[in-house]
Amino acid sequence: MSKRSKTTSNSELPSKSIKVETSKLLEHFEKSRNECCSRGILEFPFIKKRARIISTETNVKKGSKGILYWMNRDQRVQDNWAFLFAQKLALKNRVPLHVCFCLLPKLADATFRHFKFLIDGLKDVEEECKSLNINFLLLLGSPEEKIPQYVKDEHIGGVICDLSPLRLQKEWVENLKSSLQKDVTFVQVDAHNIVPIWEASEKKEYSARTIRNKINSKLSEYLTDFPPVIKHPHEYKGEINKIDWNQALDSLECDRSVTEVAWAHPGYQNGCKVLYEFCDARLKLFADQRNDPNEMVVSNLSPWFNFGQLSCQRAVLYVKTFSKKYSKSVESFCEEAIVRRELADNFCFYEENYNNISGLHEWARKTLNDHRKDKRSPFYTENELEEAKTYDDLWNSAQIQLVNEGKMHGFLRMYWAKKILEWAESPEEALRIAIHLNDKFSLDGNDPNGYVGCMWSIGGIHDQGWAERSIFGKIRFMNYQGCKRKFDVPAFVRRYGGKVYNK
Ligand SMILES: Cc1cc2nc3c(=O)[nH]c(=O)nc-3n(C[C@H](O)[C@H](O)[C@H](O)COP(=O)(O)OP(=O)(O)OC[C@H]3O[C@@H](n4cnc5c(N)ncnc54)[C@H](O)[C@@H]3O)c2cc1C
Repeated sequence: MSKRSKTTSNSELPSKSIKVETSKLLEHFEKSRNECCSRGILEFPFIKKRARIISTETNVKKGSKGILYWMNRDQRVQDNWAFLFAQKLALKNRVPLHVCFCLLPKLADATFRHFKFLIDGLKDVEEECKSLNINFLLLLGSPEEKIPQYVKDEHIGGVICDLSPLRLQKEWVENLKSSLQKDVTFVQVDAHNIVPIWEASEKKEYSARTIRNKINSKLSEYLTDFPPVIKHPHEYKGEINKIDWNQALDSLECDRSVTEVAWAHPGYQNGCKVLYEFCDARLKLFADQRNDPNEMVVSNLSPWFNFGQLSCQRAVLYVKTFSKKYSKSVESFCEEAIVRRELADNFCFYEENYNNISGLHEWARKTLNDHRKDKRSPFYTENELEEAKTYDDLWNSAQIQLVNEGKMHGFLRMYWAKKILEWAESPEEALRIAIHLNDKFSLDGNDPNGYVGCMWSIGGIHDQGWAERSIFGKIRFMNYQGCKRKFDVPAFVRRYGGKVYNK
């Protein structure tokens, strides 16, 4: 099957009025940052609990010549608490501000589709940094290899990083901690969650029910507007190497057969355009129709959120301005974008085995084990699944949507993963295949939401036990008939063209 993106209704070019409205929205956001604190972060009461000191050194040493923000998960300039904290430190110490991104040639299951989105988004970050007198650099290699030398060469006194709860990124932070000089301050800021992960809860939460109130009760403190990152008054006078973005693309050792998608254009401004379109046309229908894959009223914002190109906090602040008009939809959106999203981060942060069977609850492991020997009929190989060659035309259509558009509708994602459990040779294999296909093709993949989505569907994480049945045991079951009761399955199949393959 072709892994190229097809033009779909999602890919229409922006009409002139959408362009105009998006630039008005961008101006509106700029204005609200200025109204929040036009003089920038130095005069803004930064909530210290958003940050945690990783180094033993807590102060920036005298004589330092700069502060470095190592940007990783939150790839944007504005509306980024880690960036703001780094600027605060640089302003306080009257030194230049540097921002770096470390690009590795390979990253888990990420393909060219992901890297191109990431790199094109970073080009915007570079431009914006330039206009703000901030030195942006792209380092080819891992953080622990590249950052310590730069810190030494440039006499950097403080390094700030953002937060990802995933194992590899946690490892980078640990390794960097041990390889930085001991007199360099190293601070981590959670710029991704509205309520910082360590403040929302100090433990792995059982479900949305147990974390909801912990998060919602802290929103009055954390769900604030952002001050702007301002033009930095202390210019970097050293040598600035022009970034060779083509060389960066050439250096990648990822799967290049999975190409860009036509509908999703990277970067902050494009993310704002999607946000505008969502609020303008689809938000009013979100509460009632978000589970209908034919209607497509969802926000489609996950790629921009996950690459950190658009702050979810900014999106929530904007969506909330429609509270009076569409109260139910705004409430549902906040449940997804705040509670569910931050619950996924909570799981990955506190559960080392966030993407394998060992991370499941005891009851779920037991029930899957009890049904390990149940006959899989039919059984499909990973290849048959990737090629959308099952007997189920709905499943095949959803897989085609994933491959061609780089994003499957949220409702179908659950059905899709559960069918993999039914068809794979074991629960371990089902989880591995679901995660692999999701991370390979989905533009929003390689993210806590994806691991938790697969663990929920296949392993009952954040869910409860249901009536026992073959293969699934007590894991919640979904089937074709159920989908037919929820939406027009033939219409979806006509749209994506999944066929029936008998084995
Ligand atoms: C098997 C499976 C795999 C998934 N893989 C991913 C993935 O790789 N990346 C990803 O971001 N989400 C994933 N999800 C969660 C959810 O389906 C997507 O977040 C959603 O479809 C993204 O589309 P949207 O931005 O239009 O969502 P909307 O419905 O518009 O929701 C807005 C935002 O809320 C958050 N959100 C919504 N639903 C969930 C959820 N169930 N859990 C956590 N956060 C949520 C997302 O950040 C999303 O962008 C997966 C779910 C399942 C069942």
